[in-house]
Amino acid sequence: MRLDKYLAHAGHGTRSEVKKIIQKGLVEVNGVIIKKDDQKIDEENDEIIVSGEKSNYTKHVYLMLHKPAGVISSNYDPNHKTTKDLIKGYEHYATFPVGRLDLDTEGLLIITNDGLLAHQLLSPRYHVDKTYYVEFSGDYQSIYTALFETGVTLEDGYLCMPSKIELLEPQKALLTIKEGKYHQVKRMFMVLGMTVTYLKRVSFGPIALDETLPKGKFRPLSETELEALK
Ligand code: URA
Repeated sequence: MRLDKYLAHAGHGTRSEVKKIIQKGLVEVNGVIIKKDDQKIDEENDEIIVSGEKSNYTKHVYLMLHKPAGVISSNYDPNHKTTKDLIKGYEHYATFPVGRLDLDTEGLLIITNDGLLAHQLLSPRYHVDKTYYVEFSGDYQSIYTALFETGVTLEDGYLCMPSKIELLEPQKALLTIKEGKYHQVKRMFMVLGMTVTYLKRVSFGPIALDETLPKGKFRPLSETELEALK
């Protein structure tokens, strides 16, 4: 990769800003000051020092966001705050959310720039478990538990894959589904005559929402979490 491109990717400024940094002799590659912005570097193995500090570049980033209600799972929206707006300090990475949560849904959203991993996690073939904490109005009848386990048929005739429900209180439950159809949890409850009043995703595959992470905040996934995900 070209040195100026690398520095811009690694968050040292825009292309024109990093060219100036290079011209000023502030960039060292493997101990040698480089003043050519098109110098080819090996971003995985070369040691790059910028203004005396080691530049940390990772090709891929993996973040856990505690999405609050009122924020849209997208990089741009003319009317709402987006998940991209919450991911401060990672603007130089082309990140995106792995799947979507509704505007009013809270909880765990993984943000990455690793398209391959995102594709695998979202692919129906991989059946990644997603667990939601659900509050609802309406009557939960005991027969519903077996129904969730066999497969709920949505209002449009779609037969959902088997899911698992654990009733916590008369109107609170944990529901684990393996797919991610549009408004799926809300629709599953709706066809059974109940209305979801609060929805929060608490886990995605092997990753559980870090409950110490305040709403609206994010943190990088730990090594252990990343290993489990891949
Ligand atoms: N199911 C829903 O209905 N909404 C979400 O945001 C996620 C799953």
